[in-house]
Amino acid sequence: MTKYVSLLKNSGLKSTFQRIHMLENIASCGHMSIDDIYEKVVKIHPSLSLATVYKNIILMVEKGVLTEVPITGKKSKYELSKEDHIHLICIACGKVEDKPHNLHINTICTSMSKEENFVLNKQQINLYGKCITCHATPNV
Ligand SMILES: [Zn+2]
Ligand SMILES: [Zn+2]
Repeated sequence: MTKYVSLLKNSGLKSTFQRIHMLENIASCGHMSIDDIYEKVVKIHPSLSLATVYKNIILMVEKGVLTEVPITGKKSKYELSKEDHIHLICIACGKVEDKPHNLHINTICTSMSKEENFVLNKQQINLYGKCITCHATPNV
């Protein structure tokens, strides 16, 4: 918990119990939509509204505490900001898996930014498709 207190403080945000509980849930699930986060945190904070969760999540994204992961055809998910990694995103069930970056990807990103004279400060590589469970059972 103290981890999140300092994470919020270092990002210029006040650490409230609501925010800490949001971060704890996101950390334990990996990737969550705002609705998922709301459902979990409202159990501890019954007066919490979906709008408040939304506002806090957007603010924490702006401050770099959280990262938004867009999901084609579904609501975005959010994760704690961490080292660059690749997402395998299932468009059928919405599952998001983290895979580590490899050297090839870093090389491509660096050389492409150089060629395009583009200053890269953040990167997110998302691969969309069907996870092993979903493509094994195509009609579910
Ligand atoms: Zn799936
Ligand atoms: Zn991720």
